Order: sequence, then structure tokens, then C-alpha cells
Amino acid sequence: MSAVNSFQSIDTLSVAGTDYQVFRVDRVPGYETLPFSLKVLLENLLRTEDGANVTEAQIRALGSWDPSAEPDTEIQFTPARVVMQDFTGVPCIVDLATMREAVAELGGDPNKVNPLAPAELVIDHSVIADLFGTADALERNVEIEYERNGERYQFLRWGQTAFDDFKVVPPGTGIVHQVNIEHLAKVTYTREVGGVLRAYPDTCVGTDSHTTMVNGLGVLGWGVGGIEAEAAMLGQPVSMLIPKVVGFKLTGSIPTGVTATDVVLTITDMLRKHGVVGKFVEFYGAGVSAVPLANRATIGNMSPEFGSTAAMFPIDDVTLDYLRLTGRSEEQVALVEAYSKLQSLWHDPSVVPRFSEYLELDLSTVVPSIAGPKRPQDRIELSAAKKAFEEVLPSYAPEASTPIDVTVGGESFTLDNGHVTIAAITSCTNTSNPSVMLAAGLLARNAAQKGLKAKPWVKTTLAPGSKVVTDYYEKAGLTDDLEALGFYTVGYGCTTCIGNSGPLAEEISSAIAEKDLAVTAVLSGNRNFEGRINPDVKMNYLASPPLVIAYALAGTMDFDFESEPLGTGSDGAPVYLRDIWPDAAEVQATIDSSIDTAMFDHQYSSVFEGDERWRSLPTPDGATFDWDAESTYVRKPPYFEGMTLETSPVSDIHGARVLAKLGDSVTTDHISPAGSIKADSPAGQYLMAHGVDRKDFNSYGSRRGNHEVMIRGTFANIRLKNQLLDGVEGGFTRDFTQADAPQSFIYDASVNYQAAGVPLVILAGKEYGSGSSRDWAAKGTSLLGVKAVIAESFERIHRSNLIGMGVIPLQFPAGESADSLGLDGTESIAISGIEQLNEGVTPKTVRVVATPSAHSAPGRAPIEFDAVVRIDTPGEADYYRNGGILQYVLRSLV
Ligand code: SF4
Repeated sequence: MSAVNSFQSIDTLSVAGTDYQVFRVDRVPGYETLPFSLKVLLENLLRTEDGANVTEAQIRALGSWDPSAEPDTEIQFTPARVVMQDFTGVPCIVDLATMREAVAELGGDPNKVNPLAPAELVIDHSVIADLFGTADALERNVEIEYERNGERYQFLRWGQTAFDDFKVVPPGTGIVHQVNIEHLAKVTYTREVGGVLRAYPDTCVGTDSHTTMVNGLGVLGWGVGGIEAEAAMLGQPVSMLIPKVVGFKLTGSIPTGVTATDVVLTITDMLRKHGVVGKFVEFYGAGVSAVPLANRATIGNMSPEFGSTAAMFPIDDVTLDYLRLTGRSEEQVALVEAYSKLQSLWHDPSVVPRFSEYLELDLSTVVPSIAGPKRPQDRIELSAAKKAFEEVLPSYAPEASTPIDVTVGGESFTLDNGHVTIAAITSCTNTSNPSVMLAAGLLARNAAQKGLKAKPWVKTTLAPGSKVVTDYYEKAGLTDDLEALGFYTVGYGCTTCIGNSGPLAEEISSAIAEKDLAVTAVLSGNRNFEGRINPDVKMNYLASPPLVIAYALAGTMDFDFESEPLGTGSDGAPVYLRDIWPDAAEVQATIDSSIDTAMFDHQYSSVFEGDERWRSLPTPDGATFDWDAESTYVRKPPYFEGMTLETSPVSDIHGARVLAKLGDSVTTDHISPAGSIKADSPAGQYLMAHGVDRKDFNSYGSRRGNHEVMIRGTFANIRLKNQLLDGVEGGFTRDFTQADAPQSFIYDASVNYQAAGVPLVILAGKEYGSGSSRDWAAKGTSLLGVKAVIAESFERIHRSNLIGMGVIPLQFPAGESADSLGLDGTESIAISGIEQLNEGVTPKTVRVVATPSAHSAPGRAPIEFDAVVRIDTPGEADYYRNGGILQYVLRSLV
């Protein structure tokens, strides 16, 4: 029972002979016209009301929510569960293991550090498409994955036994968000609390931005940083402001030739233009019931690309059908239906909820699209793709980049700018969607029948998000056709989507380097930021799975599908894309005939067990982890060193120097890259000094359990442009501890600053920290010695992660930037006003004084301005005062 029940909301729901305790939202005035997502939050508050953190006033405020008001009511959201992937999950478990020791050191019981909310981790981010285009590619890639990651996997197996309510889905099973919608999500959650069986909306937070994919099932959830996820696991609510909710009306239906991918690229484009950062988006209208669940999930998946916190669909018959198809029990389906109807969570097209803003898309107007070459919102109509490519090429290819002859495996060809070197069917965004996956399979069949082949310079990969995909390809008889075009399965995991595209053929890679060619990648992913996909590839395009295959056949982005043939058919006639594009009715018929519940039952019945490789990994035991001092994968991080039970006061910042001055749209991938580690970088040097061969470096993402690698990798993205240097790309800065302020690695400079006791500041432009939620972007920033980031605007998760790591996010005054104020980064920075936080007051602004230094141009005057403090909630202020969220949680546990 919740401790307080101000609205007398507790009731009993009986379904098929089982009684469930429920907290009825209809007891709160105003609930009727609340958007779906806010009703879910309303139930959450009713169930967790305790009179202190969750109060009657907050519940009342949510019921009478004013859609047009600027968000200012803080609420505490307690998610039902936490989902994780291995890149972010390993550091979470490392932190929990470290917290256990810290609790013991502070005199508490280490077993208190234990998930209170169930947590599930899917190992999907580590597999790399090293091998491709052969029948043994999958097997070999998994083998190499285990060789590289065995140590991390053993650690996770320890976590699985040491922590209650923490389960791991082993490698080679699927991709976290697809496994979530196909199996983990319950839609209506049940749990015994104090001997009473409760039913409540399934909600989650995930350590991955695309957690929102589950929104398509009517499950409210979104990506949070690893640090917030750890707190959620430990029973801390996620503090948030009641957001604005944008109503997005869907009408019409998708025309022939257009895919779900085209729809999401269109919606992304529309919502980016509208501006939905920090808001919920909710789909409504009669058109909703015509949207298949798989398309809802694909749309939900791209929520971070729109910039919204969540992108919700309501629950209806389509949801129930999907639950049945994917093998959820009849009892569960009945509970979902009864519970959703009782709580007004069932879709009723006749009720238009009150929304903050309204948008509308007639699906029949969507046209085939791609997006690129570096942002998902840069949509291009397919018919204009060639022209668009030609227009941007000059900014990627220097004049000297001319075609070059290459021979690979006995085959010779000429490689040129625009050539597609990677064509990847990848990413849960699309691999979860049978309509686009089967369209790809059917297109492959039609192409293979005509005798077409992928061009020899294209690395062709297929990485399904669950084994069900393989089953339905088999049943539909399409596996051979995909393989005939080179699309062999390379793994069940993220692969190219997260940058694990694996190396290009040596000869191709050196040819690209020799001529500085601007070659391209085409992937069915959701992100294409610079440097993310492959270090050799400058331009990345997002496209639907069938278009990925089409581009593999075309071999270049400099291609017009309308007027140019893909090749010559075996009959000697030219073959155009339109000749092999599968008919929508055939795609639907294939979906209907080749996917069944038995496939899901079969693939998910033993989902946590894993194969022989997983089961035979040695599993350490014990309440605390026995760290291996030699490990280069899993090390005990220093966050709690010297920590005391009492907090020390926060202080103003004096004499700080600028570590980096950055432009707009610096992503978390620029701040903490996930991909490959360069041998001559500080992280590469560290690994070599610890006896790791270059071929075994693995990726930054896989090394997030080792803070030594991660600090050195912070700001190490090869495409980072630090404006303290002229025209230099990569993780470099000027080291102002030296008289001549030479160019230096950012890590090396930070070591000198820390030795000299000089605090650091980052200056940045708009949308700082956009992209994937990545707690290492904040952890690394903090461990480099950065005390404040001053940006024009922040991405939501990264901003809160900075606070979670004790770094204060500050914003330039409205309309101002580092450049408009005249800052060039050579100044010495003082920030005063922070100390008001010690009095329990979060200042709205603090005073920043930038005084010219010996490194600044002579004769400059100091620059002063008031920076806006982006500590947005009282909870965040508590975290900041404690030096970070983990310290806060730890102190409250002891
Ligand atoms: Fe994230 Fe892509 Fe992996 Fe999906 S496939 S979890 S979007 S990296």
C-alpha cells in the first residue's frame, strides 16, 4: 500500500479469477481529457504518494494540468523497470559493485545496494561486423566477440548472481529494444507488494536513447543516462517537470512504394522543424488504429531524433493482437485489455485529449526518402537524392580526391567519391519491422532473379534484432536471395547502427586514405553523425532496408533511381529499381504467411539461458566483486574515493581555463565516442602500455567498465573541432599551463591542469550533448576536471547527467554565444553565485567574468555576463550539492 491515499483511489480489478489492486485515475479531477502519457504519470503518483516526495498537491496539479503553461511543476516518476544494453549496462553494474564497497566502507550493509526496480540487460552492442558476405560470418563474429569481451561478460554473469532482480539476455540473441517489444514489455505490469498483487502501467527507463521504441506498445519510457538508471534501480524516482505534450494527428494511409522508414524520416523532419525538445509527443486520431504495431514501434524508436522525450501510442486492439502474435499469454492480454479500459488508457478516437500543441500528418502524402549525410533530420526525397549528393559533395571531398583503381580478392574496380562502401541492414528501428525487412527480402529476391549483384566495393551486412527475423526469412524462402546479394547475417546486435561496422577491406581503406575520398555508407539506422559509422566513411545516409539493398546494387550515392538502371538483367534488358520494387500487397501477404506465434515462443522460451559459450563462462560469486588488478575492461572507478557521510559545501569557480571551445550540435559521440580507439591516442597508448595489441583494442563502448580508457577517450572523437585550434580535427586543445600554450591531447592537458589545481570549463554552442544518452560523456567530462559547461543550449539527458556527475550546466544569456560575447577561450574564467546553493537556493543566474590571460590578444578588456543556471529541479540541486547523484543515493542508503 502506498503510505498515503488522498484520493481514495485504491480499488480491486478482477480478471479471469485473479484480483489485482489498482490505483484508479478517475478519482482525480481532470483526468478525462489528460493525454495518455500524463494519465500514466498520474497513476504513478497515486501509487507512490507518500506525502513528502509525492504529494496530494502534485497529483492535483497533474489532474488539472494546463497544456499551454510552461512546465514548472516537478514530479517524481518511479518507473516499473529498467532496461539496459551492455555498453551502458556494464558501467552501471561496475558502479553498483563499487557502491557496495563504498557502503561497506561508510559502515552500511553492502547488500542494500540491490535493484528495487527489476532490471534487464541485453548484450547487443558489442558484436562487430568483422566478417561479412560469407556463410560463416555470423559464427566467426560471435567467436571474436567472445574473445574480445569474455571479461565483461563474466563480470555481467557475476552481477546476475550478486544482484536480485537483475537479468541478462546473453549475446547473439537480439537488440535490446526489439527484445523489449517482442518479449520483455508487459504493457500492464504486476507485482506483489506487501502480500497484495498490484497491477499498474508498465513503464521503464532505459540506458539507451531509443528506449522509446516501447512507446509504440503504449509503454511510457525513455532513455536516461546510466547514472540515473542506477538511481532508478535503487528505488530513486526520476525527477521531472510535467512536460508539454504535443498531439500528433495521423490520418490517411501509407501509399504504395513508401515504407515505415520513409514515414519516420518525414515525421523526424516535421518534428525537428516544429521543436519538441523536452516534450512528449502523442499520436492520436482515427488514423492511429490503421498504424500497424511495428510501424508504431519504428516511430517511437526515432523519438530522440525528433528531440522529444517520448513518442507515445495509446493501447488498442492492434496492441493486443501484437501481444498475442509475440506469444504473450492470454491471461496477460486479458489483463492489459481490462486494466487499460478501467484506467481510460484504451484508445478512444472520439476523445481528443487536451494537448499543448497540435500537428497533423496525412500519411498518404509521404514519399520515399533518405536522410543524410550527417543528421537524421536532413531528409531528402529519394527522387532528389542524386542532386542533393552532388551539391554537398564538395564540402566533403577536397579537389585532389580523384578516382583510384583498386583490386580486392582478384576483382578490380575504380573507387570514387560517393561510392557506397557500406550497405547495412541494421538497427532495431527497422529490424523490428517485418514490413520493411520483408520488403528488403522480396526486393533481394527480385534482384537475384534478374541476375543483379551488389557492387564489389560494398560491404553488405544483415544484422537482425531478433532471431525471429531469421525464422521468417527462412519460412518466406528469402534467405538465399539475400545471401545471393551478399546480405549474410553478421550478428544479432547493433553492429553498424552503433558504429560496429567493422573494417573495410584493407585495399579499399588505404585507397580511400590515399585519395582522401568521400565514400558513403547507407544504413537502415537512426543516426548518421560524422565519424559514427566507420572511420573511413565521411558521409552516411539513412534509408529503409529495401533502399539499402538498392544502393548496394547501384554502388554509389551519385545515382538517380528514376533514370539510371541498376544493371542489366540476365535477359540483356536494363533493370530499374521500379522493376524490382515489391508490391505492397505481396509484402503484406508474405507477412501474413510467414510470421507466427510459434516463432516467438520458440525463440524466447530460453532467452536468458544463452548458448554453450555463455553457459560455460566461469561465473565469479560473492556480494562484492573481486576486481582483477590487471583487467583492461573492468576496473573500480574513483567516484567515491575519500567520500564522507557529510556533504562539503559547493564553491564558486575561480581561475578556470577553457579546455575546449566548441560549436553547435556537439553530440555525446563527440564527447565520448563509442567506436574505434586510435593507436596514437592517449587511450591507445594506455592500452598498449598495458600489453593490449592494437587488433584487440575493441571499441570505446566496450571499454566503458574501465575509467582509465574512458577518461583518455573523452573528447577524442576524430571529428571534434576545438576552436582553440585552427582547422585541427580530433581530441586536441591548447595547454595553457605552458607558456606557449602548445597543441596537446585533451587528456594530456587535463593531467597538467589537474596537477596545477586549475579547474576547467567547456564553452559550447547550441544543442550541446545531443545524440545518444551516454553517461560517460558526463563522467569523462567530470574526471577530466571540468567544473562547468557553458553552452547556448543543452540536450536534456546530457544536461542532467552533467549535474549527476557534479558539473554545473550554464547557459549563455538568451541570444548570446561565446562568439557574440567576444570569448575566444584564451581567458581565465571566474564564476560566482554558485555558493547560494549551500543556502538551499538555486540561483537563476550566476556571474561569469572572463579575464584576458597572457595567452589572449593584448589590450582586451574583461568580459562579464550572467549565465543561466540549468539546474532545473530541486532534486537536481540536491544531487549537485552532494557532488553527484551516486553520492546522493549512497548517502541516503547509509
Ligand atoms: Fe540503439 Fe541502434 Fe542498437 Fe537499436 S540497433 S539499440 S538504435 S544502437
